[in-house]
Amino acid sequence: MGILVQDVSKRFGSFQAVDRVNLEIKTGSLVALLGPSGSGKSTLLRLIAGLEQPDSGKIFLTGRDATHESVQDRNIGFVFQHYALFKHMTVRQNIAFGLEIRKAPKQRIKHKVEELLELVQLSGLGDRYPSQLSGGQRQRVALARALAVEPKVLLLDEPFGALDAKVRKDLRVWLRRLHDEVHVTTVFVTHDQEEAMEVSDEIVVMNKGKVEQVGSPAEIYDHPASAFVMSFIGPVNVLPSSSKLVQNNGFDSAHPEVFIRPQDLLVEIQPNGTTVPARVSRIIHLGWEIQAELTLDDGQVMTAHLTRERFDELNLEPQQRVYVKPKEAKAFPLYYSI
Ligand code: ADP
Ligand code: MG
Repeated sequence: MGILVQDVSKRFGSFQAVDRVNLEIKTGSLVALLGPSGSGKSTLLRLIAGLEQPDSGKIFLTGRDATHESVQDRNIGFVFQHYALFKHMTVRQNIAFGLEIRKAPKQRIKHKVEELLELVQLSGLGDRYPSQLSGGQRQRVALARALAVEPKVLLLDEPFGALDAKVRKDLRVWLRRLHDEVHVTTVFVTHDQEEAMEVSDEIVVMNKGKVEQVGSPAEIYDHPASAFVMSFIGPVNVLPSSSKLVQNNGFDSAHPEVFIRPQDLLVEIQPNGTTVPARVSRIIHLGWEIQAELTLDDGQVMTAHLTRERFDELNLEPQQRVYVKPKEAKAFPLYYSI
């Protein structure tokens, strides 16, 4: 097993940042810690790295109890959002840094640095200084530097967070390919659900210091374990159980709220079975997808995502009368946190 987090808690003053977290990360996998800002992702990562000490619980790395090991002894590579490359060193010198400190043989360092430059696709830029690189290139150097000492575990804390959207997207694809080549057990922190889904084998959804759910991207999306996960992973319409749309479709008042994904809302021109009437209040064109904002007669506003094809078929226009029902809807029992 790669990483085992056993009943770990951490508080800062009276604030419970990490709350009895249990987590198992398989050797060689790429796992995303996903959650809103302040949910405890970075704290959990820092606990794994040994940059913070847990108040209680244990952390095992590759089978050994590392709870009381120093950062240095844990053999972990770390990359943060705000890269900290050494400005006065070239790319090559930055990548070589960890090996130099460990007094690795010169020839081995040289060979390793060239190999890593190629791996992160920066061959030819080895003699540049960080200021002569783009943000995306710098983060790739930071990754190469972290990988140079052949860590057992790689921890990435929003590594692409400071980059613009296009570069971010390229780097996600790149990171996934890199991981498929090197297979280092990797934990990747992000608050971006699309990023988590695109990059990782498994997603750990965090909320208020607790793990809400662990699963593959498809499991998390198709079978969310809680209202929080359902709302956090992708857009959703939330309806009160008193809504006619909900009652017509078999949900009773035991469910306080019912969740319907925008693509699961069926839009028809004619009433059909359990449909309820609505009016088209706004149409947003997103190229391949059309988002229609619909207002039900009780005033509830909902969003439907339609394919281009379906939209043309319906020939929707603002103010038009339509009839809607969910193709699929989910409800979660009320739960009380202790
Ligand atoms: P995330 O990475 O999910 O945004 P963090 O783990 O950074 O969340 O933080 C969780 C909470 O713990 C935040 O509300 C933050 O203010 C608090 N926190 C984190 N580190 C410290 C610290 N060193 N001292 C006090 N509070 C902290
Ligand atoms: Mg953070």
